[in-house]
Amino acid sequence: MNKITRRNFVNGTLMASGASLLPLKILDSQAAMAALDSSYYPPALTGLRGSHPGSNDHAHALAWGGGSVGGSMTKLSETYDLVVVGGGISGLAAAYFFQQQHGAEKNILILDNHDDFGGHAKRNEHVINGNTYISYGGSQSIVEPKYADRVVLDMFEDIGIDLKRFNSAYDLDFYKRHGLGGVTYFNKEVFGQDKLVQHPYCNYPNYVEGLPGGRLSHEDAAAAAPLSEKGRAQLLRVLNGGLHTLNVQEADLQDYIDNHSYFDYLKNNLGVDDPGVLRMARHSGLDWGNYSAELMSIAEAKSCGAMGFAPKAVYDEENPYIYHYPDGNASIARALVKKLISGVAKGSNAEALVLAQFDYAELDRPGNPVRLRLNSTVVNVRHGGNPASASEALVSYVNGNQSFQVRARNVVMACYNMMIPHIVSDLPKEQAAALSLQTKSPFVYTSVGLKNWRAMKDSGIGVAMSPGNMHQAVLMDFPVSMGGYKFTDSADQPCVIQMISCPFGSFGAEPEAQFREARYRMLSLQFDDYEEEIRRHLSGMLASNLFDFDRDVASISVNRWAHGYTFAGPGDSVRLGRQPFGRVTVANSDSAPGADAKTAVMMAHRAVNELA
Ligand SMILES: Cc1cc2nc3c(=O)[nH]c(=O)nc-3n(C[C@H](O)[C@H](O)[C@H](O)COP(=O)(O)OP(=O)(O)OC[C@H]3O[C@@H](n4cnc5c(N)ncnc54)[C@H](O)[C@@H]3O)c2cc1C
Repeated sequence: MNKITRRNFVNGTLMASGASLLPLKILDSQAAMAALDSSYYPPALTGLRGSHPGSNDHAHALAWGGGSVGGSMTKLSETYDLVVVGGGISGLAAAYFFQQQHGAEKNILILDNHDDFGGHAKRNEHVINGNTYISYGGSQSIVEPKYADRVVLDMFEDIGIDLKRFNSAYDLDFYKRHGLGGVTYFNKEVFGQDKLVQHPYCNYPNYVEGLPGGRLSHEDAAAAAPLSEKGRAQLLRVLNGGLHTLNVQEADLQDYIDNHSYFDYLKNNLGVDDPGVLRMARHSGLDWGNYSAELMSIAEAKSCGAMGFAPKAVYDEENPYIYHYPDGNASIARALVKKLISGVAKGSNAEALVLAQFDYAELDRPGNPVRLRLNSTVVNVRHGGNPASASEALVSYVNGNQSFQVRARNVVMACYNMMIPHIVSDLPKEQAAALSLQTKSPFVYTSVGLKNWRAMKDSGIGVAMSPGNMHQAVLMDFPVSMGGYKFTDSADQPCVIQMISCPFGSFGAEPEAQFREARYRMLSLQFDDYEEEIRRHLSGMLASNLFDFDRDVASISVNRWAHGYTFAGPGDSVRLGRQPFGRVTVANSDSAPGADAKTAVMMAHRAVNELA
């Protein structure tokens, strides 16, 4: 069977029935996006998603080439009260707060380089046996809403996000009912044999609310690991280890763990030198950290549940990790877009929008006060005169290969902050230098549509740590049913599983260098490479009498986030970088800094308040 033809991937992009991404035709200077067909529906696309092919081309040309991008410029006769650069949660929230403060009749343009809105909050849909299954391609859940500022909670309420609803929508009993837990898959390529052990060896799976812990004692888990005898003994020392093994007075403990390396602790205190054990440790923090565990202090390793720290509740009882829409935080983005552009979908709250088909042709409708223009990379923002007194700024963007310019009385830069020095050409040098110190870590979140999950169930897999593979964790999607959407409750039904990859660079290199190396590697892989890796991973992990990749996998969305979690520059650089400048202010969760949806909203609120 031809694996490519079977799923109709076209260069890693599925033109699903009812979904097309037609080349944009520019009808006239007023309607750059009016050419979006009503069948344009990017959530239904599979293949390479996230930072999909083409989305970063103009930005990279600008950042790496340093020159101008795009062809000859068309100056549109469009002037906006506000132009927002970046249509992630922060950019959408900035438009929302601007309307709240200045009136719904103010006209706003939101520009984003992707083919969909939401930024990291990305909806993935998989059509399996004719039915649509919803999942997420990035930002997963609302984290600790109990600690949200009133500003965020009020916005949530206004756009129809009911946090109480998750108490019943999230099926806490799901994992127990189906016998699923935290396990580890050791692959043949790295560990010499394909083996599944009913123990996660780390705290990572513990964040999945309702997931039972490992079924084996530490002794049995260490004995079951496919390591040398010496390696198994070392693994047991790590599992039984913890802060109590440090010979440090209680009063000095915090200082000690803040300033001592996790890997030094493993090597020097616990005598670990087995490459298999060190590899398991390196990959055990995943996206609960921001970088590879050999760079962490003991305190960082402990807080992200790296191997060797006793399982603990990740969140307190009043903040369970249940605030997950079927499409993750894409539902926040959709609820914001619905609030800003009411004709885009039917449904008066986020839950009612879960199954709503959005009409993307409505996003950039001339005459609407708020317009959202996709596939549009902003390449230049400059003031029309002296920034201190200018009454407007000129915003240039590239759509397709054509350049356009609009005028804006105010601009909120809600894009990746490290790109701002390349875009805002009259920015003061010190501010540009501060912004240039920021970076972001890369991730891959892959969603896989399965025709049934019998093999996952029979292997007891709720979360499978996979220290030998590119995707270091495989997990069932979160068991949430709402808005008419029903999560699977039978292993013979289709479902979507998630595979999470935190790609690292060369062992021991500084985080920035590792991000760069891993990012290039990630972007250089084609869809076929990812598909082959996923085929090897799932086929090695799941019993061959229950799982056949070609038979059971219906669709794959590889969401590559070349620029994922924010990684702040040193000292005061973030505060310096986000200073208002003339008609321009800075939002995005980078400007806090923090990789969190609540933070993205708060930064939007601040940026709108700071507008001159
Ligand atoms: C894989 C992943 C998982 C995450 N999981 C969670 C989670 O579970 N919970 C949570 O709270 N947070 C999570 N986060 C953090 C997430 O970053 C924030 O929650 C939030 O979504 C950030 O929103 P934002 O608008 O600040 O940035 P983004 O979502 O990055 O949006 C910025 C937008 O600006 C666009 N842009 C950049 N440059 C330009 C340009 N020149 N012109 C036009 N547009 C441009 C970008 O492409 C992007 O679409 C996750 C992040 C990642 C990467």
